[in-house]
Amino acid sequence: MSESSLDRIISLCKRRGFIFQSSEIYGGFGAVYDYGPLGVELKNNISQLWWKCMTQNHENILGLDSGILMHPKIWEASGHVDAFNDPLVDCKQCNARYRADELVNEDFLNAKWNEIQCPKCGTTGNLTNPRQFNLMFKTNIGPIESDSDIAYLRPETAQGIYVNYLLVQGSMRQKIPFGIAQIGKAFRNEIIARNFIFRTREFEQMEMQYFVQPGADDDAMVEWKNKRYNFYIDELGINKDRLRFHEHGKDELAHYAKEAWDIEYEFPFGWSEVEGIHNRTDFDLQKHQEFSGKNMQYSDQLLNEKYFPYIIETSAGLNRMLLTILCDAYWDDSDNNRIVMKLHPKLAPVKAVVCPLVKKDGLPEIGHKIVDELMKSFKVLYDQQGSIGKRYYRQDEAGTPFCITVDHESKENNTVTLRNRDDQNQDRVSINDLVKIIQNRMDIS
Ligand code: ATP
Repeated sequence: MSESSLDRIISLCKRRGFIFQSSEIYGGFGAVYDYGPLGVELKNNISQLWWKCMTQNHENILGLDSGILMHPKIWEASGHVDAFNDPLVDCKQCNARYRADELVNEDFLNAKWNEIQCPKCGTTGNLTNPRQFNLMFKTNIGPIESDSDIAYLRPETAQGIYVNYLLVQGSMRQKIPFGIAQIGKAFRNEIIARNFIFRTREFEQMEMQYFVQPGADDDAMVEWKNKRYNFYIDELGINKDRLRFHEHGKDELAHYAKEAWDIEYEFPFGWSEVEGIHNRTDFDLQKHQEFSGKNMQYSDQLLNEKYFPYIIETSAGLNRMLLTILCDAYWDDSDNNRIVMKLHPKLAPVKAVVCPLVKKDGLPEIGHKIVDELMKSFKVLYDQQGSIGKRYYRQDEAGTPFCITVDHESKENNTVTLRNRDDQNQDRVSINDLVKIIQNRMDIS
């Protein structure tokens, strides 16, 4: 996949109503994107699948939806106020700005910046030393702006889980090991935001925090690494060859982590992280006890002791997962002069489109009746605009797995043609059997 294929995906996303640049009529707003009709369906399908796999399929994992705004002390305790920084380097010649750790692979603190070339203007000796920049968005609570009323937009959903974990455990009578899952918005004032929806200032995380007895953390790490990796292959249908693990070296580890692995995908711009699996130890719970003065220990009835559980975190970006799916699905079927989004049918925003061959002779009426029936089972659209070939290709780009065409024969024997997106095969089937056939082929009944 070349860099230019990302441009083609971006333009398809706009053309077909998946993703739009935020505030486009005002010239755009940096690193924020809006999800159009197809984008929001796709995003919902992904998050529902994640939620099902992470909560419904596990007896000991429960959901939570905590606030975006939380007590500011939480971010002091977690270390985000002091340490959630990106090291930035500027070029004095061309004003380009870089993240120091992305510009040099080795230890950037010891790099000789005045000897490094600026990748943009090519001059040497113009890069500044790294400066730390905090990524949290600040706001004020109440009518008066003052330092005592500061609140932060959460940069991760995890802390909402940590501060609630004993309430969840107690109210739901959970015993360790157990997990808490949450999907929600997170905000980071990313300085170098690029690659479409890969790195944005407002995004959604799907996180699960798994609480285990200290000593059981290494095994839990192995278990969750496997489960999360397999999710991409078995549930999302991502090409195995474009997935890999990357282990964080000592220099890369976050202040709270004992061990960290990224699931990476080979995007058009190179291998990059989609999800992190981290052993966060008992760092966060210890800190919250220290800063709040409240007990954050788990009382283990079986062992008759109290301890701080260790936490294994699986943290995925919903938008990054969506980009992974789009990149993996993009297929330039040049033999047939069409672009196809080969989305897994269970993820496809629209499952079927109903097309009357012509706009007369009673065919639209039959088409609308079919739509009315199918919409009870899944998302379906009606389309009578343009030639039938154009309508098919439009749906190929939207990733719609099935096109149903109503023709004159439909009036005689109550049948339609059912076209498959990927191989373009068409079968003649009875209208009465449509729901069953489509559900079987989609494997979502
Ligand atoms: P990166 O190194 O790419 O900045 P990170 O290691 O800081 O990411 P985590 O804090 O581990 O990321 O966040 C977990 C997940 O949240 C990431 O794997 C990614 O999918 C998602 N994520 C983090 N930052 C962003 C962002 N700015 N835009 C979109 N998704 C993000």
